[in-house]
Amino acid sequence: MALRNLGPRVAIADTRIARPPAKEVNPHYTTPEHRAWRAVVVARAGGRCQDPACASPARGARLYADHVIELRDGGDALDLANGMARCAACHARKTLAERARRMAYLPKG
Ligand SMILES: [Zn+2]
Repeated sequence: MALRNLGPRVAIADTRIARPPAKEVNPHYTTPEHRAWRAVVVARAGGRCQDPACASPARGARLYADHVIELRDGGDALDLANGMARCAACHARKTLAERARRMAYLPKG
């Protein structure tokens, strides 16, 4: 298969509105408890991205309630201390970094 065939698929992935490719979805994310946790994490951020590396924390863009330590890494799902509001750019950057780190540790095969 020619690589050029991938072009159209890549082009339609708009990171402003699309989440990173679906991981296996943890059922926790659909619970009312998670929605309540997420609402508090986002509300207390006061519209600012809390990622220390954020290029523009006051942009006021949509914020994602992110688990600082991801659930699959043993992070507490409902501990507010494990929550951080991140803008889309920071959320994507962190998620990709975590994935790369995880893959580096996974045995091949
Ligand atoms: Zn940010």
